[in-house]
Amino acid sequence: MLAGAVVAVVAVPYGWAVGHVRAYPLSPRGVGLFAVDHSWSLVNTIAGAGFLAVNLARGHHLDPPRCCHRGRIDVHEQAIQGYATTLGNVVAGGTAANERHEDLHVRQARLLGPLYLPLVGLNYALFSVLPVWWFYHDHDGYPITGPGRYFTRGVYLHVWHEAWAYRRDVRDRYGDLPVPRPGRRRSRRVHRRDRLRRGPHDHGDRDHCTTDKT
Ligand SMILES: [Zn+2]
Repeated sequence: MLAGAVVAVVAVPYGWAVGHVRAYPLSPRGVGLFAVDHSWSLVNTIAGAGFLAVNLARGHHLDPPRCCHRGRIDVHEQAIQGYATTLGNVVAGGTAANERHEDLHVRQARLLGPLYLPLVGLNYALFSVLPVWWFYHDHDGYPITGPGRYFTRGVYLHVWHEAWAYRRDVRDRYGDLPVPRPGRRRSRRVHRRDRLRRGPHDHGDRDHCTTDKT
């Protein structure tokens, strides 16, 4: 009974969406991605299907042109205001600017399969109660001024899968230049050197969008 209800509410809309947006290309790559998403990464796919169901129930819309043959399902609207959110192979609120960032989260889930969500959850829990990131946090650029900022500028920017994605974003923009990822303080040595070279007001990649991704 319960299983039937879950299938009706979660699996059916997901299956419909995969076909509707033509998420997987009919190619060896598409078949491979589909196989991974429905075996090793199945837990993430189920989580994504649940996320999709919630979005559709809220009246949000699929975005077929954005995700056709991309191995994922895009929802046009943001699930959390100000953020793009990725769960499994479902992306809500993605834009051209954050597509590579969100795609990396899709790939991280495929890579780690059933370990991905536990490792993300564990890191959020650990960094919430034990903020070791405090010591390398860029307090000037991202001041922690209250409990909300503690999570949005602190914990969130430093959990492993976000730190990885933001580091890649910075590499996309700056190549091998020594620019730290958002939230990360540059090392004292590099900071001193750059200060001599470029003046005291250069503080790394603070222009980089940090509120439109997750
Ligand atoms: Zn992210």
